[in-house]
Amino acid sequence: MFYKIFDSLLTLAYPQACQACGNPVENSADGVACRFCWKKTNVFSGAETLCAKCGASLQTKSSNFQTFCRRCDEHFYDAARAVGIYEHALAASVLHLKREPFVARNLRKLFFSRFENSDFQNAALIVPVPLSKKRFLERGFNQAAVLSKILAKKTGIKLDEQSLVRRIHTPIHRVGMDGKARAASVENAFEVKRPKFIKGAKVLLVDDVFTSGATVSNCAKVLKKSGAEKVYVFTLAKTL
Ligand SMILES: [Zn+2]
Ligand SMILES: [Zn+2]
Repeated sequence: MFYKIFDSLLTLAYPQACQACGNPVENSADGVACRFCWKKTNVFSGAETLCAKCGASLQTKSSNFQTFCRRCDEHFYDAARAVGIYEHALAASVLHLKREPFVARNLRKLFFSRFENSDFQNAALIVPVPLSKKRFLERGFNQAAVLSKILAKKTGIKLDEQSLVRRIHTPIHRVGMDGKARAASVENAFEVKRPKFIKGAKVLLVDDVFTSGATVSNCAKVLKKSGAEKVYVFTLAKTL
């Protein structure tokens, strides 16, 4: 732990290499990626056409009607949104967050402004996607809980880290894993421990990255079963 802290202090004190391209990061507010990599990263502005449910980028022109990608029809959450696409600076930041419980200032700002532009503000409860006990002990923190705490502190929405648990230890989800393998590995992995806190609540489920949606859909499934009125999903990044 000491070395971990010492390491963080070192990287805060000295210019570091961008974890996406290797050039120096000039501004500590940019975190682990340089400003050029941030410029290249597709961060959602709210003007793009997204699937009304899962938030996937759609090629169709924007219209007054809601559009759906249809791939998420079976998912149990009501809507999912992300700060941006899992690429360049955002991908580097997500990977870093799995190693250290740290979110740089500019990314926090993006995270809040994306939340403020979402329809999720009536959420009553922020629930992080849980890690298994084994993974939590290995890592020392849950990156989804780090994000949840940041959002709860800023918005005043209640944080609930206890109600949803992961009871099965599943292999690490790699971004490259196909949908079927991912779906099978998280099916029935989650459980609601305190249904009375979930019943009737609009829940904001928070995770670092949305890949196939299988993980958050399985979380949403048990939350809905316990009576959650709505389940929204909010992540830093979404894979293409
Ligand atoms: Zn860079
Ligand atoms: Zn969709």
